[in-house]
Amino acid sequence: MYRCAKCKKEVKTLDPKFTRCPHCGWRVLYKARQPIAKEIGTQ
Ligand SMILES: [Zn+2]
Repeated sequence: MYRCAKCKKEVKTLDPKFTRCPHCGWRVLYKARQPIAKEIGTQ
């Protein structure tokens, strides 16, 4: 599973030939498993 770097929505289905967010068209996606960005103040 991936997450869009722009709209923060989850991208479940991703075509490797067409790496683009289906929601906003952004081309930068993160792998959801990687703890790159932590949300602060969500306790
Ligand atoms: Zn997006």
